[in-house]
Amino acid sequence: MKYDVLVVGAGAAGLLAAGTAASRGMRVLLLEKNDRPGRKLMITGKGRCNVTNACSLLNDLLDNVPGNPRFLYSAFSRFMPADMIDLIENEGVPLKIERGNRVFPVSDKAADIVDALVRFVKRNGVRLLTGVRVRSVEIEGGAVAGVKDADGRLYEAKNVIVATGGMSYPLTGSTGDGYRFAEQAGHTVTPLRPSLVPLELDAPSWRRAQGLTLKNCAIRVEEICSCREVYSDFGELLFTHFGVSGPVILSASAHLRDIAPGKYTLYIDLKPALSEEKLDARLVREFTSQPNKTLGNVLPALLPHSVIPVITAAAGADPARKVNQIPREERRGLVYAMKNLSAPIAGTRSIEEAVVTAGGVSVKEIDPRTMESRLCRGLYFAGEVIDVDAYTGGFNLQIAFSTGAAAAYGAAAKEEKS
Ligand SMILES: Cc1cc2nc3c(=O)[nH]c(=O)nc-3n(C[C@H](O)[C@H](O)[C@H](O)COP(=O)(O)OP(=O)(O)OC[C@H]3O[C@@H](n4cnc5c(N)ncnc54)[C@H](O)[C@@H]3O)c2cc1C
Repeated sequence: MKYDVLVVGAGAAGLLAAGTAASRGMRVLLLEKNDRPGRKLMITGKGRCNVTNACSLLNDLLDNVPGNPRFLYSAFSRFMPADMIDLIENEGVPLKIERGNRVFPVSDKAADIVDALVRFVKRNGVRLLTGVRVRSVEIEGGAVAGVKDADGRLYEAKNVIVATGGMSYPLTGSTGDGYRFAEQAGHTVTPLRPSLVPLELDAPSWRRAQGLTLKNCAIRVEEICSCREVYSDFGELLFTHFGVSGPVILSASAHLRDIAPGKYTLYIDLKPALSEEKLDARLVREFTSQPNKTLGNVLPALLPHSVIPVITAAAGADPARKVNQIPREERRGLVYAMKNLSAPIAGTRSIEEAVVTAGGVSVKEIDPRTMESRLCRGLYFAGEVIDVDAYTGGFNLQIAFSTGAAAAYGAAAKEEKS
């Protein structure tokens, strides 16, 4: 059987694309190499799935896309977060809005979002085959003819939507196959980089704090050559064996382009609610109320245990010294270290550990209204495989949904015309 539309990859973009094309009367085949659809969706938002962002203005959406925002103008305008919210709720999954307009299922279960998308796909009559790994996209005379699977079986289709995701978290199925399909069709794949990724630091002494989570700290990043602040934020941070991770660090990484050793310094404010003066006054109070205790025994009143050696080392203070012997300058140094704990950023963790892949199929070679290849008729791209990426907050999934919808509208319009 020759399908009108064949979608490769049943992730966020592929499920949305397949269901939308089928809702327009297309005969649709959806091929997924895993034994079930939406494996990456299941781990999004720490298993809660931040499915979109409830911002209603197109410009707010675009402001959250550092990677090629203009390319998404048309796709976003035709399929906004409100459309996605309606779609999921119409499939019986109520949603709620949290801080920063982040949208989650009321149940806090990502599985409910996957189930809703699978219902959407099936209700519209999509044929979903799991356990089928597409090996190649077949092209004849500059137009798509179908795809072949790993066993060499041909699936014929007039339109193929490649929705195979990026390179991040490859155990979920996104192993970069779509980049190969694109290159086979003559497309340029721009350099792939990790984004929303933990940072490696050149700070061996920080390893003593490994495993510690700071719920409310402020961070800022400065470019070393210009002393310019390039990012600042507030939130949760985790000390690791290689450096730092956690939501506030992942967000920072998306703002730091071309991270290289010697380019940026990370500063952490462990006491963002207190000014330096107030923190100093607090230290004075602690020191005068227990003058014969050592610094190492007084600081736990102010700091988590494992970060104390990091702070005393940064301030050049001796934790074994009695606090009544600590001079004013040394106390001031401790205050400064607590408010400005700093380390050079050495690099990022690998793309496999990143939340998203930046880079991908060049947007110059894709029609932004239809997601159709400008090089091969009937070939479409949707989702993370394209050279677009966004900040945290539900924007990356919205990109997958909006580009998936655009590809489906594009393929359906082409078939309706022919
Ligand atoms: C830990 C984590 C948490 C995240 N949390 C959020 C969040 O809360 N909110 C948010 O907006 N974004 C989040 N993201 C990002 C978001 O998940 C991705 O941007 C999004 O899933 C991309 O959708 P996609 O459909 O392009 O790719 P994917 O969801 O990766 O789907 C691609 C599918 O294609 C299949 N496939 C690949 N190759 C083949 C082949 N050759 N043949 C057949 N099938 C194939 C894969 O198995 C996979 O099912 C998170 C990412 C990670 C890793």
